[in-house]
Amino acid sequence: MKIDGIIRGWYEKNRRDLPWRNTGDPYRIWLSEVILQQTRVSQGLDYYLEFTRAFPDVVSLARASEDEVLKKWQGLGYYSRARNLHEAARHVVDRLQGQLPGTYQGLLELKGVGTYTASAIASICFGEPRAVVDGNVSRVISRLFGVEEPVNSTTGGKIIASLADELLDRQDPGTHNQAMMEFGALLCLPVSPDCDACPLKDHCVAWRTGRVEFFPVKIPKQKPVNRWIYYFILRCQGETIITKRGRDDIWPSLYQFPVVESAESIGAEEIIGRLNGALLPGAAGVTIHRISDPIKHQLTHRTIHARFIHVDLGLWPRPLPSGWIKISMDRLDDFPVARLINRYMEVAKF
Ligand code: SF4
Repeated sequence: MKIDGIIRGWYEKNRRDLPWRNTGDPYRIWLSEVILQQTRVSQGLDYYLEFTRAFPDVVSLARASEDEVLKKWQGLGYYSRARNLHEAARHVVDRLQGQLPGTYQGLLELKGVGTYTASAIASICFGEPRAVVDGNVSRVISRLFGVEEPVNSTTGGKIIASLADELLDRQDPGTHNQAMMEFGALLCLPVSPDCDACPLKDHCVAWRTGRVEFFPVKIPKQKPVNRWIYYFILRCQGETIITKRGRDDIWPSLYQFPVVESAESIGAEEIIGRLNGALLPGAAGVTIHRISDPIKHQLTHRTIHARFIHVDLGLWPRPLPSGWIKISMDRLDDFPVARLINRYMEVAKF
């Protein structure tokens, strides 16, 4: 039997029953593919269910505000995915009469839709013969064929894409693609793949040559950059201050408490100095009543070291510094924030 047939047979017996496998609705497939990028199925599943409850179709997503969409996305990370999804939904409703494009090329025109997502939607929903290559597929192919080029290099990526295309079942590309991804997600794992149980081991170069752990070859990632962020939770008469982050940095468009950022760690005394100097010059009645321990939060390219400083004020400064938004403490939960802040708010319980 050919490799694609073996993988297909394995898939029929081992596939997980996931909600996006029971629909041909391109909106829902699109949503699932975007949510599952960089996210494990176990984590993405709840988000998918919550998203489809809140925004059951492209029109409801397009009509939602950006804050509503980001709030639903809160905790998933890579927030540009949510913003692009939202922008693309608005484009579909405003320009395409609410219909997602029915071809790979048309889908590529949508904001945030790259070759991976377009291939997935076009093959699963429209039967277009486009091979999907995600991290799972790339690992499976690199091991099966013993690809020595780094899979995250341009040349390596082209080799993997070409082999994926050769393997593709052109009669049923949607099922084939899902089978390939599932095979990588459940059996041909990054660490300790279950080669003994693998129906492909006789075809697998990595297994036959005893080099399973060697593949996939990758160019090492850059070391993450350290950033120290000090959040000031200012409180006065049941109110607090939030600000909105810019669009060109980590956590774009999310809300946060006023911050001081630093390229290195600073001590408590300097934190207080910065509060008085940079955030509240000349303010009266300032009482710092708690400084949290440092909290480490890992992002793909950055290591964040955060501290939260709880400050009570006698009066708000007048006028408020530009960009500050004064809200009642009990409305904090209405605003989308980074997972780091959300987790702290849950633990600190305020
Ligand atoms: S034999 Fe092992 S490395 Fe090769 S495809 Fe199967 S699970 Fe992956």
